[in-house]
Amino acid sequence: MVQADYSYLLRQKSSALAGYQRRMVSELQRRGATLADVQGVELDVMGKVVEATFDAVLTIKSDGRIVKANTAAERTFGHSIEQLSGLSVLKILPHYNDFTNKEHIHCAVGQGHRETIGNTYDGKQFPVDIVIDIARIGADSIHVLVARDITELREQQKQLEHQALHDALTGLPNRVLLANRIEHALALAERNKNVVALMLLDLDRFKEVNDTLGHHVGDLLLQDLALRLKDAIRASDTVARLGGDEFAILLPMVEDEKQAHEMASRVMDVFATPFQLSEDLQLEVGCSIGIAMYPTHGDDAAKIMQCADVAMYAAKSGTIKIMHYDSTKDTNSLRQLTLSGELRQSIQDKLLTMEFQPQLDLSQQVICSVEGLARWRHPRLGYVSPDEFIKNAEQAGIIRELTQWTFVRALEQLTEWQNQNLNLSLAINLSAKLLQDNQVADQLKEMLSGYAIRPQLLTLEITESALMADPEAAREALKKLANLGIKLSIDDFGTGYSSLSYLQKLPLDELKIDKSFVFGLLDSHNDGVIVRSTIDLAHNLGLTVVAEGVESLEHIETLAHLECDIAQGFCISPSLTPDLLNQWILSSNRTVARIAA
Ligand code: C2E
Ligand code: CA
Ligand code: CA
Repeated sequence: MVQADYSYLLRQKSSALAGYQRRMVSELQRRGATLADVQGVELDVMGKVVEATFDAVLTIKSDGRIVKANTAAERTFGHSIEQLSGLSVLKILPHYNDFTNKEHIHCAVGQGHRETIGNTYDGKQFPVDIVIDIARIGADSIHVLVARDITELREQQKQLEHQALHDALTGLPNRVLLANRIEHALALAERNKNVVALMLLDLDRFKEVNDTLGHHVGDLLLQDLALRLKDAIRASDTVARLGGDEFAILLPMVEDEKQAHEMASRVMDVFATPFQLSEDLQLEVGCSIGIAMYPTHGDDAAKIMQCADVAMYAAKSGTIKIMHYDSTKDTNSLRQLTLSGELRQSIQDKLLTMEFQPQLDLSQQVICSVEGLARWRHPRLGYVSPDEFIKNAEQAGIIRELTQWTFVRALEQLTEWQNQNLNLSLAINLSAKLLQDNQVADQLKEMLSGYAIRPQLLTLEITESALMADPEAAREALKKLANLGIKLSIDDFGTGYSSLSYLQKLPLDELKIDKSFVFGLLDSHNDGVIVRSTIDLAHNLGLTVVAEGVESLEHIETLAHLECDIAQGFCISPSLTPDLLNQWILSSNRTVARIAA
């Protein structure tokens, strides 16, 4: 009968031992041993098995008192075998009855492992895995309990879970955990009708840090930054590392977009102090931040992430380092899909037009040139800004067609002015995306040959940031264009961090100071210094200087005083249709240089 106590354990424990037991029993029987002998030997073997096992094995009477316990039980629960004997099982397993009371006994006992809490002698609690079976002894029954301390297992599981949800380098939550937290935040926000903000951060020029100083330094920087970011946020916010130099900050509860912006500014401040990466290595690092809001920009985690990403991309490619999501700048939004679908047709239908903004020669006080700017009046959406549709055309792959149209329009217009005896030169913008397109120079060359226009009347404006994207390739592309005899101008100067030594190597004719500096010319000492030094720099390089964004007479006077060559801006005139430009020239006091008869 007692043998039945342990047969269950044998089943559970080791089929190898069970096989050994069977073999031994048949061997003893073969040698003529009695049943009592066999049972005695079996009991002995089983006693040894129970003693040898790593798990605690206990027998418990129906009144809950422990009868016997093995050495592992002593280890597991910290009570000696003597202390365990006669002790209520509830002392070591306070929830034991949950598994054996009448309600649960059928589902708990003999039904596999259960996890519960164990108590040690000195009152420590630990997770324990138990298996219970019942052995009948006459009318009475006895519980056999096998218990295993799973503290280590749980610890390992926790570590694995942590690893799966956190970034190894910084210890911050990773993309998976962030997504989960966003889901939670959105669910709560929906119920409580509050606003959630998500910021994505990307370090500026982190690749350079890695490439020039090594990955070790890059890693130190990221770790240091992780600590700073954690300090900058509230306990209820989450900062996560998404990979590389990309971080995210979730603000599960903000008042509005303005407050999110303030938080972003605080995060920006984190970068104000240089990073001290070793005794003699201090690094200044900047970052770009994109912000998306729930519910304004989307109502699920994926959409909010996508919007923050679009905003971050905008911040990265512009001069404003904190950008809020703007659906009009998102090529994935419905409006953008509509635009890219209809732009091509609009070119064919001549809904795209070119307007011309006069440029004033400051020393001669004559209109010497104009900038051609594309205009699109959409039949349903109304006026669409070129910033929007050009970016759209770039992303939708129709920028070539648009550029082709620009070239044709420019050459037609120059021909017309030539026919009117007007000595106007014309500047047009070349998309950054097309600078390295070999076909552009060839196309333009072919077109120029079809018009009786002196190539030097045409200027191509190329943004400084386009030149800096791949300086060497840009230099080659510019050479090819310069060979056509046209002029080349560097647009939005001051926003692209080009160096003097680099500019010297380029076949440039003109430099346009970005309007943001011109706007600040009168009020900001810094901007004043930048404008002044840019003019000097350009002159030293033999370049003509144009200031754009000239909005007041004071600007004109100051620029003339600084010996800037040309001014362009609303104070002189906004862009005009060809007809209006003609009228403006006739009615204004400004004269236009005329081709000498
Ligand atoms: P951009 O080349 O920097 O052109 C100057 C922009 O500044 C124009 O905006 C012009 O209207 C604006 N502007 C001129 N004077 C003032 C001023 O005094 N104050 C202010 N606040 N703004 C002034 P627009 O026409 O909206 O063009 C925006 C951008 O779109 C252009 O910037 C250019 O990069 C691009 N773009 C326009 N037309 C074309 C085109 O035909 N092809 C390409 N690739 N890009 C174009
Ligand atoms: Ca321009
Ligand atoms: Ca510009």
